[in-house]
Amino acid sequence: MGKRHVYFRCHHTLHCCTDVVCLPTPWDVIQIVKKTGISPYEFLTFITPEDISEVYKSDPTWLKCHGKRYIMALKRHAGKGCFFLDPVRKVCTVYEVRPILCRLYPFRLETTRDGEFRSFGLHKDVGCPRHRDGKVPVEPLYQAYLEDEKHQQDYADLVRVFNRKRYRDKRPEDFIKMFYQEVPNK
Ligand code: SF4
Ligand code: SF4
Repeated sequence: MGKRHVYFRCHHTLHCCTDVVCLPTPWDVIQIVKKTGISPYEFLTFITPEDISEVYKSDPTWLKCHGKRYIMALKRHAGKGCFFLDPVRKVCTVYEVRPILCRLYPFRLETTRDGEFRSFGLHKDVGCPRHRDGKVPVEPLYQAYLEDEKHQQDYADLVRVFNRKRYRDKRPEDFIKMFYQEVPNK
């Protein structure tokens, strides 16, 4: 492994919880439901390419219904950010079980020319102030990254099955019911 730390400290600007759309995996969703008891239909939404320009058309997590594309996201309160952000205390109310993507933000995996893992750095274009006055250990980030890779693969497999299904009243919300039945190791 390369660098053992990334020089960064979160200054709690809340940019990532107010301005960024959070895209959980089905596994993330199940962890939140288990912890909070909130129905996924309450906190999930299905957004379209008009709502999010950062996700490539080729991304394997686009759900297809009647010729349209949707992607699963955490709902947001108008002007206040993520469904799980407490607007008064300014904290994440599901911090312990927040999606892995939230844990990895704003870190970016760095690889060698051969595609081998090297370390983590900071994303350049994510709007997070890149303060270097702290030290974040790389090892837990790497473990979270590996865990997320696994869940992203399961997610893509489920979406593939969903997209093959054809029926008259198909809605993106049906995906929730489907992954509740099929996600391994819930
Ligand atoms: S945008 Fe960066 S500094 Fe602001 S809360 Fe998120 S991680 Fe912390
Ligand atoms: S789940 Fe928590 S950490 Fe993630 S965007 Fe929402 S409030 Fe922020």
